[in-house]
Amino acid sequence: MTQEAMIVFDNVSKIYQMGEETLYALDHVSLQIRTGEFVSVIGPSGSGKSTLMNIMGCLDTADEGQYLLGGLPIEQYSEDELAKIRNRKIGFIFQSFNLIGDLSAEENVELPLIYQRLPVRERRERVQAALEKVDLYNRRSHRPNQLSGGQQQRVAIARAMASHPDIFLADEPTGNLDSHTSMQIMELFHELHEAGHTIVLITHDENVARQAQRRIRIRDGKVEEAATSDPYGDRPAGGNASDPYGGRPADEEAAR
Ligand code: ADP
Ligand code: MG
Repeated sequence: MTQEAMIVFDNVSKIYQMGEETLYALDHVSLQIRTGEFVSVIGPSGSGKSTLMNIMGCLDTADEGQYLLGGLPIEQYSEDELAKIRNRKIGFIFQSFNLIGDLSAEENVELPLIYQRLPVRERRERVQAALEKVDLYNRRSHRPNQLSGGQQQRVAIARAMASHPDIFLADEPTGNLDSHTSMQIMELFHELHEAGHTIVLITHDENVARQAQRRIRIRDGKVEEAATSDPYGDRPAGGNASDPYGGRPADEEAAR
């Protein structure tokens, strides 16, 4: 896999035919996200953010244009490879946490690892490490309804982390949380970024969006701006200020 652009959208459109009307949920979107970048996608409700994330996450496909993941057009991956990408390479985090109500925190974190057929010992180790990372190992036996919203989202992040994905795709991860709890969740994303992960975080909240290295604005299915405007918001996010890619391997292209 090339270290340069992990995610490339080349004139990607997603089109819904609603009776007479043709709706471009995504309208010729071109963008690139490099390995190790922390990018936010900000736009109002209905602007196409979830559609963008679903295509990035191989949960949906473009109707026009091309999506390249790891340098390869998405249609060149087999169904098996796409399933592996969705299960292992990408960690999904959603607004509503999507935890299973009658499973404990640790069972929720373990479940995808069972589907991946990891041996029990490896599963235990990963579950413990992930729950410790989000500071919830002591609540591992709690069910979702015995945890606060912020804690549930931390379990969901631990669940994503336990598969050791390269990319984290988060769709409004702080949308159901108060601003203080949101900032605690953002701390976890900063830590994941500092550990070298690629993060795409979708939000309609400027305070959340500005914490990424780069903001991509979307409106009516169109990406308005993909430039680095305020790379760090008000918090340094990994690396140093003169080097937006934080000295990670993603620097190859910048060095040219
Ligand atoms: P956001 O996540 O920014 O709120 P979405 O990506 O969910 O926006 O939706 C973008 C646009 O596409 C909206 O106008 C929405 O109504 C429309 N849309 C999304 N999914 C469908 C669908 N399955 N059928 C028809 N229209 C859809
Ligand atoms: Mg949405």
